[in-house]
Amino acid sequence: FRNRERSLGRVLADSVHYGDAEYIVTEDRRITFARHAAQAASLARALRERYGVGRGDRVALLAANSPEWVIAFWAAQSLGAVTVAFNSWWSPREVAYALGHSRPSVVFADARRAASLEGADVPVLSMEEDVPRLSADPDVELPQVEVDEDDPAAILYTSGTTGRPKGAVHSHRNMVAVIGYHRLNDALAAALGAPGPNRYLLALPLFHIASLHNLAVPRLATGSTVVMYQGAFDADRVLRLVERERVTHWGAVPTMAARLLEHGGLDRYDLSSLTAFALASAPSSAALKERLREALPVARRSLVDSYGLTESCTSAAVATADLLERFPGTLGYPTVTVSVEVRDPLGRVLPEGEEGEIHLRSPFNMLGYWEDPEATAAAIGPDGWLRTGDVGTVRGGMLYLTSRRSDLILRGGENVYPAEVEHALDEHPDVAECVVMGVPHADLGQEVAAVVVLREGSPATEEELRAFLTERLAYFKVPSRWKVTTERLPRNATGKVVRRAVTL
Ligand code: ATP
Repeated sequence: FRNRERSLGRVLADSVHYGDAEYIVTEDRRITFARHAAQAASLARALRERYGVGRGDRVALLAANSPEWVIAFWAAQSLGAVTVAFNSWWSPREVAYALGHSRPSVVFADARRAASLEGADVPVLSMEEDVPRLSADPDVELPQVEVDEDDPAAILYTSGTTGRPKGAVHSHRNMVAVIGYHRLNDALAAALGAPGPNRYLLALPLFHIASLHNLAVPRLATGSTVVMYQGAFDADRVLRLVERERVTHWGAVPTMAARLLEHGGLDRYDLSSLTAFALASAPSSAALKERLREALPVARRSLVDSYGLTESCTSAAVATADLLERFPGTLGYPTVTVSVEVRDPLGRVLPEGEEGEIHLRSPFNMLGYWEDPEATAAAIGPDGWLRTGDVGTVRGGMLYLTSRRSDLILRGGENVYPAEVEHALDEHPDVAECVVMGVPHADLGQEVAAVVVLREGSPATEEELRAFLTERLAYFKVPSRWKVTTERLPRNATGKVVRRAVTL
């Protein structure tokens, strides 16, 4: 017996068996698996016949979330093409860079973003008009294209919080392995009595690994529903969608969770369908997790914190609710088939409890960065292990993260981890958000600086915040430079603070 699902095109072909079940639901539309596959087939024919798209060609997507985005993704996959997910927040300059770098045969763009492609030497198809028109023929067979398992399937640019975005390339093999991981999770949850069928909220941008590789793709393979939220985050609209569509799984970045808590009154909504609430993609403080447990019954039962990178394709470690309560700050055990090592700067493996750079070996890891052999060699060693750029430890077999290597503050002879200081500030009731960074200092090399955004109407002062931290942290971790403001922090599309855009 050979697993049929060796390519994403095959996954799409098999999805027709789910027939009239719902694949994508939005606030005003419902799309079944059968309809989705028919639309993808019709669009694939147009891509092949009109634009000559075939195996290995790149097809770029530059648009806000919509069912059309997903249909275009699958149409390209059925041709063995490589989908390139552009960040819909990019400036025209960043779009131009990614176009030159990935050289797509065609770009799908929505009306708002099409202007940033003006003058580009590439056919541009409109998400709102061309996709519905070209996907309307109900009688087209899905193409049968052979691909190699190690062919690239998708390119996702890292979010670029630490510099120029790099295109992480995932192969069919990586992504089919991720599907297997999700199948296992579903099977275990069903065996433990979780009520099916599952309905997953998709509220993060589709160009992010959490939405594309861990939601839109595996849900097509497992026959479960993606409940897609469109538009800027509005807590009330999201909560009403969760209530109406009886969402079972909610994955959120910490910023989204914080906005939900700020919205308040969560008990006004019927959220009884939720069986899991997962935090992912960025550090979340113990204080945030505690507030979630107080406000959301599902968080008391089954809050999880999941650690992963664009480069690792899916969660490399997951902490369950039980672990989070017993071992605050843990990211849990490595996920099945993933190995974690902590290494020193010379690449030597460190024993448990010692701090170093987290390395991962996993069948989910990316192939490398698109057309960037230097960055690829820096990220993946000859032994195949991925350097994450994260500093952490393993204790009791569980992973703990202290900081991004690049965020580490070197103050005199001391290392200061911004996340530790930020989490301590987060405990202050008047702090809405904050960021802690290293800034140059003549004698110390770097000193610690904090930018703190206060809740509206808060009277808190710099002196008060400094005293609050002095009670909790060693003196050298307490920031010596402060900016206390009511202006929101600059964040990227997934809610991460863009440190290099923060002004003191
Ligand atoms: P870039 O690499 O371009 O700077 P980025 O770091 O935002 O962008 P992502 O791949 O989206 O790129 O983020 C991965 C990083 O996010 C990890 O390396 C880690 O530092 C952080 N991270 C992910 N999940 C968690 C988590 N559950 N807790 C703490 N940090 C996390």
